[in-house]
Amino acid sequence: MSVHPTIAAFATERNSLVVGGVPIDRLAERAGSTPFFAYDRQLMTDRVGYLRSALPAEVHLHYAIKANPMPAVVDHMARLLDGCDVASAMEMKVVLDTPTPAERVSFAGPGKTRGELAQAIAAGVTIEMESGSEAQRVAEIGNRLGLRPRVALRVNPDFQVKGSGMRMGGGSQQFGVDTEEVPAVLKQLVAADLDFQGFHIFAGSQNLHADILCEAQSKTVELMLELAERSPLPVSYLNLGGGFGIPYFDKDRSLDLAPLGENLARLIDTVIRPRLPHSRVVMEFGRYLVGEAGIYATRVVDRKVSRGRTYLVVDGGMHHQLAASGNFGQVIRRNYPVAVANKMTGTDLEPVTVVGCLCTPLDTLADNVSLPRADVGDTIVFFHAGAYGLTASPTAFLGHPMPVEMLV
Ligand SMILES: *Cc1c(COP(=O)(O)O)cnc(C)c1O
Repeated sequence: MSVHPTIAAFATERNSLVVGGVPIDRLAERAGSTPFFAYDRQLMTDRVGYLRSALPAEVHLHYAIKANPMPAVVDHMARLLDGCDVASAMEMKVVLDTPTPAERVSFAGPGKTRGELAQAIAAGVTIEMESGSEAQRVAEIGNRLGLRPRVALRVNPDFQVKGSGMRMGGGSQQFGVDTEEVPAVLKQLVAADLDFQGFHIFAGSQNLHADILCEAQSKTVELMLELAERSPLPVSYLNLGGGFGIPYFDKDRSLDLAPLGENLARLIDTVIRPRLPHSRVVMEFGRYLVGEAGIYATRVVDRKVSRGRTYLVVDGGMHHQLAASGNFGQVIRRNYPVAVANKMTGTDLEPVTVVGCLCTPLDTLADNVSLPRADVGDTIVFFHAGAYGLTASPTAFLGHPMPVEMLV
């Protein structure tokens, strides 16, 4: 049986999973209690290095912090990357507490309130505006504060990207300004005297198909340059989005970055540089940078057999790691990679179903998986917990305590 690539990224030492150089039992002692999340600092650093080596040096890499906004993680990533993408005033605060300069922070997302816009303008971050009426509000608040807001326009493209886990561009969307409306909004920006930077297109998330991503990059660049050439305002910022996926499930393969890097290099050399020589090209990544570097560790509190099926009941659940239960936007429930972290090399495999401690059948964390025999007190670890884990989960549901998070 081959080991899932995400599990293979972690070391094991005498039967035990190692995260950030520390064996799991010792990490549990350090945490003081289970369940806990542990994020491997070195794996994150390595992933940034790998991405940089595969993409052209001119591409500025941003961290989309909603994937994992733990302040220590954001601080670590901020020091490795060229900027951060935030989607709320709270996220903006976390990034501004790191050494990231405000002009390297982009603030996207629908429904920014007047209060959030005022905070963003005062901070001097780049507001990625999602509509003409948001542009109007930005201009009004800028006037009131006596500041010239730094802005970009998020565009909802007239093409769609297939194969994304989540589509966020093309067709009708709550995100961005439809391509055909862009000239009118740009005219509005001229009148309002905003500090216009350029365009942002984020077409979709969790895509594992290099060929489709290449096509999306090419279409994104073509569209942005067309818009730039017809723009009454100079364009110096092209945020091409990201959307790189990670292999959550057994049959998924890791994304091959080589064709993506080559395609981007070609686009920069032949399309962007000849037409917009001084523009700043940005891409933004969330799960690709941190998702595989994190684990969610739980302890078995009960082992029971019901009509022939063995259940391991653990002290964690969907209230901390919703995605592992299949209820975070997944259409079909599939198991995330899972292991008995203190019995990594165990060979006495048995079929088991791992469930959480919430009183709902939704709280199934691994359905009919093959694991070494585990008993009460053993540690069950769920992989892919580095992105869209704790902060994407309904932590108040059933009133259990919050887990510890550690960057190791
Ligand atoms: C969520 C988000 C991202 C990050 O998506 P990942 O799939 O985690 O890489 C990037 N950009 C924008 C605008 C987003 O909303």
